[in-house]
Amino acid sequence: MTHELMSPARRLMARLDAFAAFTDDPPKLTRLYLSDAHRRAAAQFIAWARESGLEARIDPAGNVVARYEGARAGAPALMIGSHIDTVRDGGRYDGNLGALAALAVVEDLARRGERLETAIEIVAFGDEEGVRFPRTMTGSRAFAGLIEEGWLEQEDVEGVRMREALAAFGGAPDQLAAMRAVGVVAFVELHIEQGPALEAEGLALGVVSAINGATRLAATVVGLAGHAGAVPMALRRDALAATAEMILGVERRARAGDELVATVGRLDVEPGAVNVIAGLTRFSIEVRGPRDEPRRRAVADIAAELEAIAARRGVTLTLAPTHEAGAYICDPKIVAGLSAAVQAIGQTPRLLPSGAGHDTMIMGQLCPAGMLFVRCKGGVSHNPAESITEADCELALAALTRFVRDFRIV
Ligand SMILES: [Zn+2]
Repeated sequence: MTHELMSPARRLMARLDAFAAFTDDPPKLTRLYLSDAHRRAAAQFIAWARESGLEARIDPAGNVVARYEGARAGAPALMIGSHIDTVRDGGRYDGNLGALAALAVVEDLARRGERLETAIEIVAFGDEEGVRFPRTMTGSRAFAGLIEEGWLEQEDVEGVRMREALAAFGGAPDQLAAMRAVGVVAFVELHIEQGPALEAEGLALGVVSAINGATRLAATVVGLAGHAGAVPMALRRDALAATAEMILGVERRARAGDELVATVGRLDVEPGAVNVIAGLTRFSIEVRGPRDEPRRRAVADIAAELEAIAARRGVTLTLAPTHEAGAYICDPKIVAGLSAAVQAIGQTPRLLPSGAGHDTMIMGQLCPAGMLFVRCKGGVSHNPAESITEADCELALAALTRFVRDFRIV
């Protein structure tokens, strides 16, 4: 079947499969911000957008943006899209679904020659997952005018600075700090749920009410390396044993907090030898929750607990904040509009919070913003087993199209 004869949902599923080939680590899907795979994926996205006569380009932050003009040239824009970077060994739907669905919605309008009151701007953000550089959501932050000083000086693990990587990618690092999107009146992101709620309730779609806030810290513990045979237990300053206790402390505090989750997901140990007491560790701490105040209290408690463990064990602890995002309550009018669109296509509009962070919470600082969730198999994401059905994809496209058509600037 040629692409033209496929239903929009089948075509979208086929494109998502094809898009998964853009990876830095085949056969796994790993597409990090500003990598070679990201560059090739962005080029393909632009090529697809141009097939529908859209102007598409790489913006200064490395996002792909494409504009579908409204009935009146220069009309304010409703922006729709998601991200096209992935975690390491990720799935093909997280982010990519929303970016390519945005393109599918506009292609359908373009095919019918249908122009709306607002222009539609499609975005494929480049940096949602925050895998390559310490701080994340560079693309949406740039739109919202939230790039902080020193942002471009961040380095990846190989010592490559974001400034150089962005320039090589075709972005414009010198324009980044001054960026702020003009004429964008609302933002909507379609995304897989990444949780099991919709599947458990037999629903294809969900409307997001709020997005959890998150704090990330980089912890370094310095003890004293020594001979694993010769140094008696009482005289050790074992950085790894201290870290083990700290990790359990993080877990304990999160369990005590209502709605909170906390994770230590990365740990490096030096020198990392079987017969040497660990002299140094570096690990990540992440705390999330739907309400900012309890989350901040938990972060403060964790810091105090870890300091106490360090003092007791004679090691030194450094905690550096690497990411801070407040919880975002989705815009009530967008929530109402998405709910109406879901209802209009014969589905139950179920409201649910998002446990994962999204570009939407950053875009919400620029303009009213909201999200539509699609059921995913087993609630699994950040995993090659990520899965959605073509039937759900069809419903998602129908709801998003309905929302876009009915959207009015207020
Ligand atoms: Zn995502």
